[in-house]
Amino acid sequence: MDYLWPITTQTDARGALWIGGCELAALADEFGTPLYVFDEATLRAGARAYKAALAAHYPGPAQPAYASKAFLCTAVVQLFAAEGFDLDVVSGGELHVALQAGFPPQRIHFHGNNKSQAELQEAIAAGVGRIVVDNFHELALLTTLSAARDAAAPLPIWLRLAPGVSAHTHHHIQTGQEDTKFGFSLAAGAAARAVALALAAPGLALRGLHAHVGSQIYDPAALAAAAARLVAFAAEMRAQHGFALQELSPGGGWGVPMTAEDPPAPLEPYVAALSQAIVAACRRHALPLPHLVLEPGRSLMARAGVALYRVGARKEIPGVRTYVAVDGGMADNIRPALYGARYAARLVRAGGQAYLLNNLGWLGPVSDRARRWLGQETGHSPELVRAGGQATEIVTIAGKYCESGDVLIRDIALPRPAAGDLLAIPMAGAYTLAMASNYNQALRPAVALVRDGRARLIQRRETYADLTRRDLPLAGAPEPRGDGRPFFKYHALGNDYLVLDPAAWPEPPGAGLARAICDRRRGVGADGVLWGPILKAGALARSAVPTFALRLFNPDGSEFEKSGNGLRIFARYLWDRGLARTPDFALDTPGGLVAARVLDAAGTQIALEMGRVSFHSDAIGLAGPPREALDEAVAAAGLPLRVIAATIGNPHCVLFLDAQTPGTRAALGDLGEALARRLGPELERCPLFPRRTNVQFAEVVDRHTLRIEIWERGAAYTLASGTSSCAAAAAAVRTGRCASPVTVQMPGGAMLVEVAEDGSVRLTGPVAFVCSGQVDEDELLRQSRAAGGDAPD
Ligand code: PLP
Repeated sequence: MDYLWPITTQTDARGALWIGGCELAALADEFGTPLYVFDEATLRAGARAYKAALAAHYPGPAQPAYASKAFLCTAVVQLFAAEGFDLDVVSGGELHVALQAGFPPQRIHFHGNNKSQAELQEAIAAGVGRIVVDNFHELALLTTLSAARDAAAPLPIWLRLAPGVSAHTHHHIQTGQEDTKFGFSLAAGAAARAVALALAAPGLALRGLHAHVGSQIYDPAALAAAAARLVAFAAEMRAQHGFALQELSPGGGWGVPMTAEDPPAPLEPYVAALSQAIVAACRRHALPLPHLVLEPGRSLMARAGVALYRVGARKEIPGVRTYVAVDGGMADNIRPALYGARYAARLVRAGGQAYLLNNLGWLGPVSDRARRWLGQETGHSPELVRAGGQATEIVTIAGKYCESGDVLIRDIALPRPAAGDLLAIPMAGAYTLAMASNYNQALRPAVALVRDGRARLIQRRETYADLTRRDLPLAGAPEPRGDGRPFFKYHALGNDYLVLDPAAWPEPPGAGLARAICDRRRGVGADGVLWGPILKAGALARSAVPTFALRLFNPDGSEFEKSGNGLRIFARYLWDRGLARTPDFALDTPGGLVAARVLDAAGTQIALEMGRVSFHSDAIGLAGPPREALDEAVAAAGLPLRVIAATIGNPHCVLFLDAQTPGTRAALGDLGEALARRLGPELERCPLFPRRTNVQFAEVVDRHTLRIEIWERGAAYTLASGTSSCAAAAAAVRTGRCASPVTVQMPGGAMLVEVAEDGSVRLTGPVAFVCSGQVDEDELLRQSRAAGGDAPD
């Protein structure tokens, strides 16, 4: 069974499972489940094994390319670039990810049986190394596009052929037989016509031939036969058209064992058989050895990936079947439902601890001594007790999605799984996440890359916010109607702000107007006023992206520098009114320039580059000698407190509950609104911060989640705040409490904060339009004064 697991897999004395020096139970705690864990050592060893096998068995030049459809993300692209692989892509989307990740375009091969004109144009513009032409429609398109191209060299292409070889694999993943949607058929003469057309096209350079006969193939014979047929065909084409075969790609397709019933599938015999077939065919037809390109996907990826699920519900149907449900399923791995793929699995006890099996189920963690005693009592060896017992029942592992076919493993023997246990499925790296969907609005899982005891998140778990990112609501911001001056009200996670546009409000609101309009009883009611966009002479001309200036006012009339919620609202206003015409622009705030990006057409999600969080006393403007203010003593409510001071354009005081002495911790009570209201006012004005400060009370939930309560300078208790999220998340990352990205949970909702090595932060969160209307400024101020609530400025 070892060959089903990544090469670094180990079971320790407690029976806990480790991969890449990381304990799976700890990874599940850190990143949540479902989690896909990829072992870097297995990936790199696989890549090197391909290179070594080609060097050992093929006497001509050879190059492996990773078929990225098996699993593609930025880190994987970068890893294969570093291993010296070429890359196969099959769509504009795969090409985009590869280019974004920095993969050299000339080492990319572009496959696909129905590439659109736009995709072909993108590939040509990017300068991809080879376009693998699949059919006459594409050949005609490329002939036209290449003729119109203003380039010194013709466009290098291969032709994909259907060699009429049947591979022994599931018919959904067979591709080389006669009846296939892929490639020019050899038997029907289509391939010969395609060669003639390609050679006649002045803008195209036909460099080679390609075939891919299927995937999950265990017997090298079919692959070798297909390669030999391509060589024989090339010889015919040389005779008929003078075609010179320079490059040959017999595709990928080498299989992997999925369960212990399948034998291991070493690469060497496959690469050797393929190489020998090509060498023999070339000799037979007196052709020089072509440059050989192999395109493995599955055989590189499958073994490196392990899927980790948490066990939940159990349903026993006496005499029929027992279902054990996990927290993932067909949305992250559709292979069992799509083509009956089989998997093995291992149970990882909750917390990675050894558990004792008895007739009632699992009793819980046991000490070594107890284990010895229980082993004697039950007749099990201590090792068996330690490993969580042996298989005791046959169960079916069901997913959580609304399809009866959502079953990951039918009939597997396992120790009795209990709710909360982890189920680890090996050989899960290929064609799982690559085919993942949002069915039932499932969130696509997180992906961690492990190596030498370090786990790096290479794809974050999707959030609910991702689910509506592409949605367009029925209503946008309407034009206000009436006699007064217009306001636009928006809401961003517990904060509402009013936008007053200088087009209608030529003067900035005075403190009195800000107070009156924000008043929730007599005014419109808001957490603040945003006045802008302010036209600054020359500002637009100077900057590379459109820049919009604004000023920000608190409900107490004071001005402030920066606000994550306020700035997202302002960005949304610019977007709604068509003032920002591109999704990327800059906001010129009193606290500095902030880059904004509108993430969807409706502007419901906005990301802000909030700048750098600094903990240096000079930057924050703290009293006392220069220092990193990561552990400052302050007092409030008669308690000695330890806080972190930070600035991100405005000052922040972060109080981690776990940093307090036990006595103080007990006196503070639970994290909640009451705590913020009790200590906030005093901390806002504590002598450490001469310009007053925002305050966050913070508690770590897990490595990527923080919970905070906020007391805002000038605005009192507030349900959510962007700069507060940034400051608290950066403080948590800086002090090793959390790792980026951090989801910051607040009573008003959650925001995502990504903290870079240099302390700069990117904040993503939602914005919603609330209403627009008109206010009569004089009437508003008159009423406010009459109520005695306010004096003029
Ligand atoms: N090359 C081509 C053209 C393919 O279509 C595929 C998979 O479908 C591959 C390579 C990779 O196949 P595998 O993952 O089985 O190695």
